[in-house]
Amino acid sequence: MTVQIGVAGCAGRMGRMLLAAVLETPAARLVGGSERPGHEAIGADLGTLAGSAPSGVALTEDAEAMFAAADVVIDFTTPALIAEHVRLAVGRGTSLVVGTTGLKPDHEAALEEAAAKVAVVQAANMSVGVNLLLGLARQVAAVLDEGYDIEIVEMHHRHKVDAPSGTALALGKAAAEGRGVALDEVAARVRDGITGPRPGGQIGFATLRGGDVVGEHTLIFAGEGERIELTHKATSRAIFARGAVRAALWTEGRPAGRYSMRDVLGL
Ligand code: NAD
Repeated sequence: MTVQIGVAGCAGRMGRMLLAAVLETPAARLVGGSERPGHEAIGADLGTLAGSAPSGVALTEDAEAMFAAADVVIDFTTPALIAEHVRLAVGRGTSLVVGTTGLKPDHEAALEEAAAKVAVVQAANMSVGVNLLLGLARQVAAVLDEGYDIEIVEMHHRHKVDAPSGTALALGKAAAEGRGVALDEVAARVRDGITGPRPGGQIGFATLRGGDVVGEHTLIFAGEGERIELTHKATSRAIFARGAVRAALWTEGRPAGRYSMRDVLGL
């Protein structure tokens, strides 16, 4: 069965990648794409916008028409649009896949409200690989006791402004969950100077910054006589778009509810 997909904010960096990802997916059909009213690309062909062959579907400022045509809309835009997209999704019975980050409690509340009526998948990182790594982190940490020191090393490009990365913190949280502890109580986010020996049970973070690195994360379980390392290296932001399209296909026939990539991947 073909799933009819709409993409909000299609002229954006992620929007164009999402268009390309939908167009390369045989089980998906691109039925609409929106941009902010007055955007210079309104009317442009969505395939052309994605750098592919023309798709026969034009970029619109009419978000309602897109929601009406789609089974599911993928939203990587801005938190300011959440309320409006929730209203349209609920009104039209359209599922929502939300990758937009920076959500505040009122946006979360709006998504909860939508989830009572339609399927809503939301994740701050939609990469299949990263979400698989989160599942593995939880699983490995549940098996290995405090005899294995958990350290998380991440590297990103020189322009990144926050540290540790949101994904590194999510990995820490997943490992802490596996161990049945709260990350805040065991995290060592920075070390400097005479720190003393490493306390058992700590989850440590190390941050590297430089060049154009898209994103690399290694989760280390260091025990006596052996070390297990799980690494994910991102080389393209297209992984987020492909994960979002996978989530969109997964919503087909799914009951109303709030879901994460963990649900999508069956972890
Ligand atoms: P961007 O600024 O390039 O794109 C956002 C687009 O939304 C722009 O083209 C903008 O014109 C459009 N937009 C604004 N108002 C609109 C309206 N009323 N209707 C339709 N479109 C409208 O940003 P980006 O780099 O593509 O990132 C977008 C979001 O996705 C950010 O929140 C970013 O953090 C998030 N993101 C999430 C993941 C993930 O895996 N979940 C990965 C990468 C980026």
